[in-house]
Amino acid sequence: MERFNIDNLIVGCGFTGITLANKLADCLGEKVLIIDVKDHIAGNCYDYFDKNGICVHQYGTHIFHTNNKRVWDYLSQFTKWYPYQHKVRGYIDGQEVPIPFNLNSIHQVFPEYLANLLEKKLIDTFGFNVKVPILELKKTGDKDLLFLAEYVYDKVFLHYTLKQWGMKPEDLDMSVTGRVPVYISRDNRYFQDKYQGIPMEGYTKLAQKMLDNPKIEVKLKTSYQDIKSCVNYKRLYYTGPIDEFFGFTEGELPYRSLKFDFVELNKPYFQSGACINYPNNYDFTRIGEYKYFLDNQSDKTVISFEYPQNFEQGKNERYYPIISKENEDLYQKYLSKAQKEKNIYFCGRLGGYKYLNMDQAIGAALELFEQSTRG
Ligand SMILES: Cc1cc2nc3c(=O)[nH]c(=O)nc-3n(C[C@H](O)[C@H](O)[C@H](O)COP(=O)(O)OP(=O)(O)OC[C@H]3O[C@@H](n4cnc5c(N)ncnc54)[C@H](O)[C@@H]3O)c2cc1C
Repeated sequence: MERFNIDNLIVGCGFTGITLANKLADCLGEKVLIIDVKDHIAGNCYDYFDKNGICVHQYGTHIFHTNNKRVWDYLSQFTKWYPYQHKVRGYIDGQEVPIPFNLNSIHQVFPEYLANLLEKKLIDTFGFNVKVPILELKKTGDKDLLFLAEYVYDKVFLHYTLKQWGMKPEDLDMSVTGRVPVYISRDNRYFQDKYQGIPMEGYTKLAQKMLDNPKIEVKLKTSYQDIKSCVNYKRLYYTGPIDEFFGFTEGELPYRSLKFDFVELNKPYFQSGACINYPNNYDFTRIGEYKYFLDNQSDKTVISFEYPQNFEQGKNERYYPIISKENEDLYQKYLSKAQKEKNIYFCGRLGGYKYLNMDQAIGAALELFEQSTRG
């Protein structure tokens, strides 16, 4: 097999690896070999334009949002943005209701007198423009707010959580359950971040532009295990699964996965927005409709049904680390092994066993670049 002498080997061509490759080549002029076991770049954010000109996200709907100006400005060197603001609705008792459940949702599902009463009590108790985690709302002593808490808990949260995680909400870490708030506001947007959008030509094109440097060599369909004995490097950045790197010696870190069923429909639109959640009906959790992101015009549309499942090696992809004390302890064992490795940096969603939004992954990669090349 061909031998490689390079400054940097990067395992994983997702946005963590791509950001590192870009900075190492552009700022330091160093040689980078970036590999991925998949046959495409951009990792989980990979998208493509189908025959009808619809930009489809192969691994489910991806919306860029951040308050981190540094990350926004960095990416904006490589792309213009379509100013998309994400709205999610939940299919609840036959209606599409804004999610997170907010004052508009309350007025949509309850009779006027009750909605007015709940709105007043919520604002009096918590203030306006506040997100109250569902479990906190449940703890209030007021009988009307308790009614609301139980309604939201049951109709929006409980069955969705059971499907998404395959376990009871009580068994989940607060950082997961806390992500399902009641929003005391009329703002129907899913995110309130200052910067939100979709790369005008898609995520894959953005990734291509970031990798466009003669110092960067991209090798696809290549796993670290295939190549590790043939590469001499100064630094290794590993964005693959940390447990796999160490041969699963301490045991496997569990993940939740998803199965996507894509369907092309012979009609201009299927649903009222890019994302409709189905907390209570069906076995899928949500339906994504892709043409909304870039407002692609076509008399066809593409939707995906999203079925949560457990991760199994060789069957599906690692998506969401399962947060629990036991899994954190297991990760810590791998982390202490990782800290003994010289010039090997574990990073990204799989390297750090941590759910990261795109902006967090990119922000962390920018910091790691500085830290690992200092002095
Ligand atoms: C279903 C879903 C929806 C999401 N939606 C959003 C969203 O709307 N907004 C948002 O900000 N974020 C979203 N995210 C998060 C976003 O996908 C991640 O932040 C981003 O992918 C992190 O990039 P990464 O480079 O760390 O990981 P990844 O994109 O997973 O890249 C890691 C790469 O490493 C490769 N690899 C692994 N092992 C090896 C090996 N041994 N050898 C070679 N290559 C290897 C993998 O094939 C993969 O391509 C979503 C995530 C999921 C799962």
